[in-house]
Amino acid sequence: MEQFYVGASELTFLTMDVEVPPEIGFCLSHRRLQRRPRQSAFPAARHKWMLDSGSFGYCNAGEPLPSPESYVAAVRRYDAEIGGLEWAAQQDLMCEPWMLAKTGRAVAENQRLNKENFWRLHELWWRAEELDYAAEHGLDPDEVRFDGFRADLTLLPFKPTLQGWEPDDYRRDVEMWYAAGVNLHEVNVVGLGSVCRRAATKPIRTLIEELSGYLDLHGFGLKTDALRTYGPVLPTADSHAWSEGTRHEEERWPCRHGRVKWERNCPLYAMQWGARIFADSGKDIHWESRWKGVPEYAATNGRVARSLAPHQMDLFDLDAWAGLVLDPTA
Ligand SMILES: [Zn+2]
Repeated sequence: MEQFYVGASELTFLTMDVEVPPEIGFCLSHRRLQRRPRQSAFPAARHKWMLDSGSFGYCNAGEPLPSPESYVAAVRRYDAEIGGLEWAAQQDLMCEPWMLAKTGRAVAENQRLNKENFWRLHELWWRAEELDYAAEHGLDPDEVRFDGFRADLTLLPFKPTLQGWEPDDYRRDVEMWYAAGVNLHEVNVVGLGSVCRRAATKPIRTLIEELSGYLDLHGFGLKTDALRTYGPVLPTADSHAWSEGTRHEEERWPCRHGRVKWERNCPLYAMQWGARIFADSGKDIHWESRWKGVPEYAATNGRVARSLAPHQMDLFDLDAWAGLVLDPTA
């Protein structure tokens, strides 16, 4: 693993005045932040973090997802006021059978809606950035369009998530993303959804080992066992398992740091737990080879070679690299 995000229940995790190791960040949920009482502004973060869209919580509670418009507006506010936000999950629909039963949709339908949501977030984010820029510089909003930024999906804070139930659902979902114009191979974080409860099963293990060979996967909400198993193949993951108190008694102790009443609510305990998990997880074994392993369907859609960033190009296609260097318009 390269980066581990410890599930945080409160904004105080981001603002605490302690050293946090560089490989540790925090994960907060949009659903949780939305429930915070209205205040004038959010506090500024001292530590980096990622945003979970809270889709699982909304779906599980049978609540409607926030509109993409309100989600983008909230993320812009988090980015401006809290800061330190590294990326945000898209508003993905889950594909567990019981989740499908709640929504009355099939796996493929939710997978299709996830692509629509991603491109909607993409459009809303960059349009808002363009309007800001136009207002700031007194320009006609219709004249401002950040085509270069729009084309580079690593610059968009929102990251796509793979969803499915059977392993082949996920494989089809990968193809659907490419077909929808999202080159997953060039996205720096690809969420892997709906596997947290089944992570120990053989088919899921085979799937994760296969996908992690060419995608920069993020494991959502993993348990301790899964973190140990997949640490060497997942570049990033998040987990709330430190507060669940099922494995060790420590979580039930009174806080030894004098910060809160119980360790299961303590940000320092959470951070130290995260550092231990990270140390046990091992280095991401694919970090050097991942860019060479382009799957057939990605290589043949013709977009891969043209859209790789220069530092990735030399690993992939020497002709394309030469074309980029020699093309004066590139
Ligand atoms: Zn403590």
